[in-house]
Amino acid sequence: MTVQPNVESLDPIVALCKRRGFVFLSSEIYGGLGSCWDYGPLGVEVKRNVKDAWWRAMVQQRDDVVGLDASIIMHPRVWEASGHVAGFNDPLVECRHCGLRVRADKIDESPQKCPKHEGGHEFGEPRMFNLMFKTSLGPVEDAASTVYLRPETAQGIFVNFLNVVDSTRVKLPFGIAQQGKSFRNEITTRRFTFRTAEFEQMEMEYFCRPEEVKERYEYWRQERLQWFIKLGVNPDRLRLRDHAPDELAHYSVACADVEYLFPFGWSELEGIACRGCYDLGKHSEYSGKKLEWHDQTTGERFIPHVVEPALGTDRAILVFLTDAYTEEDIDGNPRTVLKFHPKIAPTKVAVFPLLRKDGHPEKAQELYRTLREHYSAFYDESGNIGRRYRRQDEAGTPVCLTVDHQTLEDNTVTLRDRDSLEQRRVALGSIREELIKVLGF
Ligand code: ATP
Repeated sequence: MTVQPNVESLDPIVALCKRRGFVFLSSEIYGGLGSCWDYGPLGVEVKRNVKDAWWRAMVQQRDDVVGLDASIIMHPRVWEASGHVAGFNDPLVECRHCGLRVRADKIDESPQKCPKHEGGHEFGEPRMFNLMFKTSLGPVEDAASTVYLRPETAQGIFVNFLNVVDSTRVKLPFGIAQQGKSFRNEITTRRFTFRTAEFEQMEMEYFCRPEEVKERYEYWRQERLQWFIKLGVNPDRLRLRDHAPDELAHYSVACADVEYLFPFGWSELEGIACRGCYDLGKHSEYSGKKLEWHDQTTGERFIPHVVEPALGTDRAILVFLTDAYTEEDIDGNPRTVLKFHPKIAPTKVAVFPLLRKDGHPEKAQELYRTLREHYSAFYDESGNIGRRYRRQDEAGTPVCLTVDHQTLEDNTVTLRDRDSLEQRRVALGSIREELIKVLGF
């Protein structure tokens, strides 16, 4: 059986994201900035949930990983040492007719029609283009004040290697994880939030003895794939793809991508790279500080090797949205629903009074206030109940609870399940246990 993308195009997802407040085009009232996006009230909740799920799995639920939050602007020498000043280049081609510039390896992603030439674009020879954003630090703009916005979070980890080792009790093998903004002056930024100029990354550098690196690399390849599956992404639309030697980045010894089957085909979601001892070695050379591991028992000193799982937060969100998006026909009525895993869903439970009178709102408010102590909850009393359910379906809310006249008599409410559409009466006294059963937390 050939696997199909969940949706044919991102268009309905982009429309839903705007309509329901997940993602907006940046500076839209000024015509928008094509390569930047803003998260709206529902989107920001999803983003926090994705980051939280990653941090829980990668840091808090492990004994061998610690966290870090380094600054975006770093010493310019960092980027010389890392190779980004010299090597963070993409070959760029320019259309002779309309001047459109695209990455030479991403020509297929560019608009096919040339506005100035009927026969389509005609691209010239590729030229190299550095992807780092340059700016200046301090009041005087001169060469000495040139700094970069980081194009990856990883270097903040490498330059803090000694600080972490000296201030904690970490023992090899161990990891340092970080989440934060990165910036790349990307040339090809279509496809919604897939590739943008400003984005967030969740990266972890896992340091180990050189002889262990292969085993650790294998472990993290599988572990990272499983993370998406555990959070509800359809495993048929996920795969691991090993890079061919000519695809490897300048620092990488081996690399695999977790790929997802987007509407535009299989594309990278996360990279798992075996970076050898390149980064610590280079920073030792450029800074003059020995970024080594000192084994207290054997007396050995060596530069650890590193495995790096690097995920784009925004790209992960796009996958969760794309995979959850479902259009269904329920007895002749169409419905759009986001079948998010409960951990990812922006709202876990919505509470409705059936009527805006007869004591329903008071009872529903009371329930809502109790539940929001534990969950991100939502209260809604406007419009008919069917419409309220459909709004929550589009927001991806797994559970809706409705207070009606029977509630006032026997203290039960209707629990409606987003995916099965099953409705059943549940006693208010056991509502928390019921929700734990349905949501898993
Ligand atoms: P691509 O070629 O697909 O743009 P990359 O191979 O350059 O990505 P890496 O340098 O391996 O990406 O970065 C690690 C992860 O960060 C990627 O797997 C992706 O999820 C995310 N990422 C990288 N660049 C961007 C971007 N411009 N916008 C959004 N996410 C990005």
